[in-house]
Amino acid sequence: MPPLLIATQNPGKVAEILSLLEESGLHLELVTPAQLGLKLDVVEDGQTYAENAARKALAFCKTSGLVSLADDSGLEVDALGGQPGLHSARFSPPLGAEPWQTPPPGGDAQRRAWLLHNLRPFPRPWTACFRCTVALAHPDGRLEFAEGRCPGEIIPEERGANGFGYDPIFLLPELGLTMAELSMAQKNRLSHRARAVQAAAPVLRAWSGAGKAG
Ligand code: IMP
Repeated sequence: MPPLLIATQNPGKVAEILSLLEESGLHLELVTPAQLGLKLDVVEDGQTYAENAARKALAFCKTSGLVSLADDSGLEVDALGGQPGLHSARFSPPLGAEPWQTPPPGGDAQRRAWLLHNLRPFPRPWTACFRCTVALAHPDGRLEFAEGRCPGEIIPEERGANGFGYDPIFLLPELGLTMAELSMAQKNRLSHRARAVQAAAPVLRAWSGAGKAG
């Protein structure tokens, strides 16, 4: 049975997906792009999470010859009409905008600061939803998809040191904790990515079962 390639180069996502799949009971052998010395620049210009996830999964599958699992995810904020959404990883102030030079440009801290700046004119609560689509690409070109969501609220102050991206300002109101205040095990019970990977479990089970039978 060949390993499953975790087709993402985002270290926060790699850690979460590895842990999710290791605890899934599916007994899959997993490999990361870093372990294979693979570095790909996939253009994420699709119109949906599914399109972008498919692009990443297919690119890694084609290069490695391995069945590849990619995710595309984003944060949708209601007051901003669903932004940053598909552009969550690239949400940033226009070049040269002054007040945003404090957090390093292009990093997660700057994206959080820019999001809060955009939200300031709107009344709270700033309701939001994390979304994730997982794509599984097979060497014969076949694609399979699964989705997950996690509703919550953006808060104006950062809390917690775990996770990545927008986690420190994403509150789970029923827990009273931000995503960054959760352990990885806790985040992996309720996050959008956890829900998408859980939804993909039947597809992964069918693939790994077919491999073992063959
Ligand atoms: P992409 O899926 O590579 O396009 O990146 C999605 C972006 O959405 C990430 O770079 C983060 O900024 C944000 N994001 C996605 N999932 C999470 C999460 O679990 N926590 C915090 N931010 C996330």
